[in-house]
Amino acid sequence: MPLRSPPFRVARHLFLFPVAVSSPFSPPRRIQLACMSSLAASNPAEDGCGGVGVRAKRGRLRGLVFDMDGTLTVPVIDFGAMYRAVLGEEGYASYRAARASAGGVDILHHIESWAPPEQQRAYEIIAHFERQGLDRLQIMPGASELCRYLDSRQIRRGLITRNVNTAVDIFHQRFGMEFVPALSREFRPYKPDPAPLLHICSIWDVPPSEVMMIGDSLRDDVVCGKRAGAFTCLLDETGRYGSPDSYTDDIRPDFKVSSLSEVLSLLETHFDLMPEPQMT
Ligand SMILES: [Mg+2]
Repeated sequence: MPLRSPPFRVARHLFLFPVAVSSPFSPPRRIQLACMSSLAASNPAEDGCGGVGVRAKRGRLRGLVFDMDGTLTVPVIDFGAMYRAVLGEEGYASYRAARASAGGVDILHHIESWAPPEQQRAYEIIAHFERQGLDRLQIMPGASELCRYLDSRQIRRGLITRNVNTAVDIFHQRFGMEFVPALSREFRPYKPDPAPLLHICSIWDVPPSEVMMIGDSLRDDVVCGKRAGAFTCLLDETGRYGSPDSYTDDIRPDFKVSSLSEVLSLLETHFDLMPEPQMT
């Protein structure tokens, strides 16, 4: 008699689930492991027999690529207000409806289809909100510790943001540590296109399957990482994304954490970190 199928498929990747939501200023919470019922099929690092995690072989990792706003810095830009100012009340209502039903509208792409005068006005509004964000910029708790750890293990770190290059320069000045390469939205196409991540992998001469993309946006950071074939980690500080059970395959990350502090133990637990001795 055939064995009954298990109630769910064993995941190739394991998620790190927060027991409770933590604020940026709270100490790291205890985390627990949970198996997921679906697979990140696009990730070439998977082996088809259990994959990465404590139940199977460990992944190899040579580099981490970070999102900036909301990941390395505390989120300060009011995106709702910014989109409302760019799109107007009616446009913003349509944007929210499209986001809820069809998986979202990329506002930067949307603006590119406008006539030049409207485009310029929109970019000026966005720049205004981004300048306000820079004035209040704070480094995300756990970011410095994580970067020092990566340095100690000779693991590369890069950055991809949809913000402008000026913001990256200011971030580097205030953070005191550099991310190389650091690609801003002047690099086209930007996230969620995988091009910037593949570009970084090419410069590093590291396969995407040995890189992890970390960010606070499912639709930009996680999708970018998955399309490139990298490991992906969603930073969800506030629990706004809810349970990954509700995610569709195209946006389901390999890992989910509620603070950057948890990334350190994630790396220790699930990966063989491959040092780059010549790294400067
Ligand atoms: Mg972000």
